[in-house]
Amino acid sequence: MQQETKNCQNCKKDFTIEPDDFAFYEKMKVPAPTWCPDCRMMRRMMWRNDRMLYKRKCDATGADIISIFAPDAPYKIYEAEYWRSDAWDPMDYGRDYDFSAPFFVQFNKLFTEIPHPNLVQKNVVNSEFSYGLNLKNCYWVGGSDGAEDSAYLFSPILQARNCFDLHSAGDVEYCYDSVDIEKSSGLRFCQNCVACSDSWLLYDCRNCTSCFGCVGLRNKNFHIFNKSYSREEYIKEIEKISPSTFEGILRAKEKFNELKLKFPHKFANIQKSENVTGDDILNSKDCKYCFNVKNDTQNCKYGFRILGAKDGHDATIAWGGAEQFYDSESITASRVVGSYVAWGGFDIFHSYDCYDCNNIFGCVGLRNKSYCVLNKQYTKREYEELVQKIIAHMYEMPYVDPKGSTYKYGDFFPPEFSPFSYNETIAQDYLPKTKEEVLKVGFKWRESENKQYKITEGIYECEHKGKCNDHCATAFRIVPQELQFLKKMGLPLPRLCPFCRQAERIRLKNPLHLWYRQCMKPGCQNEFETSYSLDRPEIVYCESCYNNEVA
Ligand SMILES: [Zn+2]
Ligand SMILES: [Zn+2]
Ligand SMILES: [Zn+2]
Ligand SMILES: [Zn+2]
Repeated sequence: MQQETKNCQNCKKDFTIEPDDFAFYEKMKVPAPTWCPDCRMMRRMMWRNDRMLYKRKCDATGADIISIFAPDAPYKIYEAEYWRSDAWDPMDYGRDYDFSAPFFVQFNKLFTEIPHPNLVQKNVVNSEFSYGLNLKNCYWVGGSDGAEDSAYLFSPILQARNCFDLHSAGDVEYCYDSVDIEKSSGLRFCQNCVACSDSWLLYDCRNCTSCFGCVGLRNKNFHIFNKSYSREEYIKEIEKISPSTFEGILRAKEKFNELKLKFPHKFANIQKSENVTGDDILNSKDCKYCFNVKNDTQNCKYGFRILGAKDGHDATIAWGGAEQFYDSESITASRVVGSYVAWGGFDIFHSYDCYDCNNIFGCVGLRNKSYCVLNKQYTKREYEELVQKIIAHMYEMPYVDPKGSTYKYGDFFPPEFSPFSYNETIAQDYLPKTKEEVLKVGFKWRESENKQYKITEGIYECEHKGKCNDHCATAFRIVPQELQFLKKMGLPLPRLCPFCRQAERIRLKNPLHLWYRQCMKPGCQNEFETSYSLDRPEIVYCESCYNNEVA
C-alpha cells in the first residue's frame, strides 16, 4: 500500500496514513481512520473523567455516594459494590440488533439505560473523596494505584506516600507540587527528576540531593541555581531565599524559569528504548508517536499511557499485557476494537466497561460473558453470523453525527454520547479549550459549581477566581493533614484551588504532539521529531549534543 493523505472529518486538516498503518488496519480488519491522530486522541479522552467527583445518591440503595457522574447526568448510577454484585443482571438490558438504525445509536440507547458504577475502586481505606486501587488515608486522589497519607493526586500516580499535588509520579514520598518524578523523596516543585531527594525547583536532574533551582544536574549536592556551595553556605543561602514564604518561592521560581531557558533541553525524554518517537518513553521499542510509554511496550503507535502492552494503535491507557488493540481506552484485554474499559478477556468490539469477557460486540457492563451482542446471549455460531452482518450494516448505514461526520466499524464512540462534558474530561487537561471553543464545535461544557463559598477560617479564595478554563473551584480549604505536611516541608500555603494547581502542573508539560525540527547546536545537522514546537523558547538538542553538554 502507498502512503495516503486524507482530510480529517473533524478538524478538516490533512493527515497521512503510512504503508505500515495500512498493514496494521488490514491485520485488525478495520477500515483506515477518517479522523486525524490528534482528533482521534481527543475523541477517546472525551470519555474519561479522572478528577471531577460529585456527591449523589445510589440509584439502587439510596446511599450517599461520590461519583464521577454529575448528579444531573441522566444515568442510573450504582455504588460500585452493588454494581458488581448479583443483585441485578446486566443481561436484563439485552436487546435484539435493529437493522433499521445505526449501530452507535443502538449502543447509546443501551449505554443510557443500563446502570453504571459510581467509580472504579478496589481496596480503598479511610479515604475521603478518593477512588483508585489500594489507597489508604487519602483525600481527593483519583485514578491512582498505591497511595497512602496523600492528597490531590489526580493521575497517574503509582506508589506514593505522604505526597500532595503530583502529576505523573512513581515510587515517591514526601513530594509536593511536582511533575514526572520517580524514585524520589522530599521534592518540591520539581519536574523530570529521577532518584533525587530533599530539593526544590529541579528540572531534568538525576541522583541529586539538597539542590535548589537547578537544571540538568547529575550526581550533585548543595547546588543553588546550578552553582556549587559548601553545606554551610548552602543552608545560609536557602535562608536568604526563604522559600517557605510565598514571595520567596515566587522570586525563586522566576529565576529558575529563566535558568531553564539557558540550558539545552533534550529533544525528547526517551530512555533505554529502541526505534521510538514521542516523549516520556522508557524501556520500550518500536513505538511511534507515543507518549508516556514504559514497561517493555512494543510496536505501538499513537498511544498515550501505555504500560506493558504491544501491537496496538490509538490507545489511551493500556497496560497489563494488552495486545492487538485499536482506537480503545483503558484496556488490558487482547484483540480490542473501539472499546472503553476492557479489563481482561479478548475479542472485544465496541463495548464499554466489560471485565473478563470474550467475543462481545456492543456490550455494556458485562462480566465473564461470551458471544453477546448488545448484552444479549447467542450461541457461538449465531454470534459469528450476526457480527458479520452488523459489521456490513455499519458500513451500509454509518452513524452520522450532528456535524456530518460518519462513524463506521472500528471508530471509537462519538463524543456526543460521552457521559461527560469536555471540561470534565482529560481532553481539557491535554487539549485545553475555552468554553466558547468547546461550544462552537458542538461539545458540552460544564459550569463549575459552588460559586457561593464563604471565605472563612480554613477556606481560601482561589487567585484565578473562576476566570480560567481549569474548572476553578473559586475557593478551597486546606485539610488538616495538608497543613501539617506543608509545615513539615517548609512550604507556604497554596493560593490556587486544587483544580487550578493541577492545570498549572499539566501546563508545564509539552503537548502530546510531534514536530520535525533540527538540532539547535550550531553545526549539528541532526533532525528529530520532538514535542517542542518550533516557536518555543527552549534550546532543543539532539541526543548526542545533549549528552555531550549535560549528561
Ligand atoms: Zn483532525
Ligand atoms: Zn481555581
Ligand atoms: Zn485556574
Ligand atoms: Zn545535535
